[in-house]
Amino acid sequence: MSSGDGGGQGFAVVTVDDDVGRGLFATRTFSSGETILTETPVVSCQHAWNASYGYSACHLCLAPLETAEQNARRLSDNPGILLPNSECCQTRPNFHVECESCPVKYCSDQCRREAWDRFHKTLCYGGCVASRSKRF
Ligand SMILES: [Zn+2]
Ligand SMILES: [Zn+2]
Repeated sequence: MSSGDGGGQGFAVVTVDDDVGRGLFATRTFSSGETILTETPVVSCQHAWNASYGYSACHLCLAPLETAEQNARRLSDNPGILLPNSECCQTRPNFHVECESCPVKYCSDQCRREAWDRFHKTLCYGGCVASRSKRF
């Protein structure tokens, strides 16, 4: 086994062997609910099944773009459901924004700007949709 420390974060990256590979191992006791590690994925996308059922997520961080109550209503096909403690839901629709050129949605302007700088300025299909609609 070999290891590298997690920068004093309470974990270590350990290579067990060639068959098992590497993993994170705790080097101290963590409290329930304590965040151990946060990282930005290199690549991420919503599962096609979720999208086909109308689940809306931020194009960058995949945060839900519907409240828990909206989610329960959509999944149950019951628009009258009222969830208790709706104030605990962390979805903030008033912060949601769209790409200026296509219908891709983000949880915040910060995510929209970060996505634009990292990949969306290359992958945005807004110009393609506009030119395609002109041809037909
Ligand atoms: Zn986001
Ligand atoms: Zn776009």
